[in-house]
Amino acid sequence: MPEYLPHGVAREDFQAALAEIRKIVGAAWVFSDPEGDLQPYLDHMSAVPPETRMPSAAISAASVAEVQAVLQVANQYKLPLWTYGNGKNFAYGGPAPKQAGYLVLDLKRMNRILEVNEESGYCLVEPGVSYFQLYQHLQEKGYKLWIDCAAPGWGGMIGNALEHGAGYTPYADHFLFSCGMEVLLADGQLLRTGMGAMPGNTSWQLFKYGFGPYVDGMFSQGNFGIVTKMGFWLMPVPPAYKPFMVTYEKEEDIGPLMDILRPLKMNMVIQNGVVIEHISYSASVQRLRKQLWDKPGIIPDERWREIAKELDLGMWNIYGALYGLPENVEMTWQMVQHELTRIPGAKVYLQGDRPADDAGWNYREKLMRGEPNMTEFNLVNWDGGGHLNFTPMAAMTGKNAAEMFALFKELLNRHGFDMICEEVAMFRTMITLVMIMFDPRDEDARQRADACARELVAIAKQHGYGELKANLTYMDTIADMYDGQGGALRKVNQVIKDALDPNGILSPGKSGIWPSNWTGPRT
Ligand SMILES: Cc1cc2nc3c(=O)[nH]c(=O)nc-3n(C[C@H](O)[C@H](O)[C@H](O)COP(=O)(O)OP(=O)(O)OC[C@H]3O[C@@H](n4cnc5c(N)ncnc54)[C@H](O)[C@@H]3O)c2cc1C
Repeated sequence: MPEYLPHGVAREDFQAALAEIRKIVGAAWVFSDPEGDLQPYLDHMSAVPPETRMPSAAISAASVAEVQAVLQVANQYKLPLWTYGNGKNFAYGGPAPKQAGYLVLDLKRMNRILEVNEESGYCLVEPGVSYFQLYQHLQEKGYKLWIDCAAPGWGGMIGNALEHGAGYTPYADHFLFSCGMEVLLADGQLLRTGMGAMPGNTSWQLFKYGFGPYVDGMFSQGNFGIVTKMGFWLMPVPPAYKPFMVTYEKEEDIGPLMDILRPLKMNMVIQNGVVIEHISYSASVQRLRKQLWDKPGIIPDERWREIAKELDLGMWNIYGALYGLPENVEMTWQMVQHELTRIPGAKVYLQGDRPADDAGWNYREKLMRGEPNMTEFNLVNWDGGGHLNFTPMAAMTGKNAAEMFALFKELLNRHGFDMICEEVAMFRTMITLVMIMFDPRDEDARQRADACARELVAIAKQHGYGELKANLTYMDTIADMYDGQGGALRKVNQVIKDALDPNGILSPGKSGIWPSNWTGPRT
């Protein structure tokens, strides 16, 4: 096994730094054996071999004071720290750092739920708090509040929101519904944002902006600080909740459907994060690929149509829900039903209409009322466990929905992959969530997945569809999409990075932001 060291740091210095860090967090919370306790810090889903991102060490800190002390050591020895909360960012790099030799700063043990306020509907949590944990806490205490969770319930409230993640209730945009942060800057300075900057304030978790520039966004999807606390609004349990699914027979229905959906979303008639699953997505959650197709090559359209019939689904299947007073919900439903069934062949399903063991309906129904679960994670078993996600965004129009689907389907099929996708509608935009699934043990499949991913970004850029998240491998490629005005955005990020983190110790390369003085590799 080769030795993994941070770039430019001598072995003796690295050992001296680790000795100091062990004194800070306790020897039991520093991991440094590539063949042993560092194995959980590898990502087995991406298109590069896991060892190419082997950390030199992982540090599990338990408090703000410990993180501050670790920062001091990192500044002294110029150690690159790759920070996260739960480390479940699978499909984007999971628990691995961007490059081999980085130190992972794992904040899973900082998992206190510091406050839940039922009267005003919010919580304040630390970075290690998962959806499961917060949900369970609310249930145990009997709070009449819902959380909003990503599909994998083991994700973290803070990590997911910082990555601009999304869920399925009306509070689906997690960063939008966050309110107030506590951040450690690279030099160990503690900062509270918004109203939190004012000692004794009563509305840190209630009003986002405080006074002056709104800086919270700088600490999302970047590397300007370490978030140690974050507030989130929690939705009061509504008197009525009406989940629904409507199925559509033809692949071409996606265009008209998106045009029907837009005014319903813009006017907030349907308030939640709406998902339109292609049959491939629905099937991959419920079946293994080999159960559905045993011939070489991609699954052909004809077979997808059969699969839709076998699962009693459409080629597209929309999941949404209504919330509010029972009378209002019923009245609104009449309009929603009328609109969503304007497409010939549309079939409506409500609570109780699907078989009791319908895994697809059951987990979606839970997600739309914020009950975390792991059902959707089944889909990573589709073809061996390799998995790259892409989320190109466009205006919510039928033209974009149809065009994106056609473009990316052609691309994936050409590279030998099934087009596993869903389209998700938020306030005025839509994303086409494309999943490149491959067998990571197959070198040829890895290379095709990588080539497909790079071409996907190029096509998206050509058509003006901005990618929103990046797997570790494609951070620079995706940052390059946003190169308007002479690359002004990257230049501003660079200035901020160098000013706030002069030693370049915080997550070098995250979202394509590298310290100016970085001399190491950029993979
Ligand atoms: C099958 C499948 C389904 C998925 N469904 C969804 C979905 O419905 N919605 C969705 O949003 N995502 C989804 N994802 C993507 C991903 O799994 C989730 O977003 C997950 O919640 C991210 O992991 P995490 O919450 O543990 O975040 P982490 O891995 O802890 O953090 C993510 C990133 O945020 C930054 N970060 C985290 N904590 C801090 C901190 N304290 N300070 C500074 N930076 C920090 C780091 O850059 C880190 O890499 C899905 C993935 C798969 C494979």
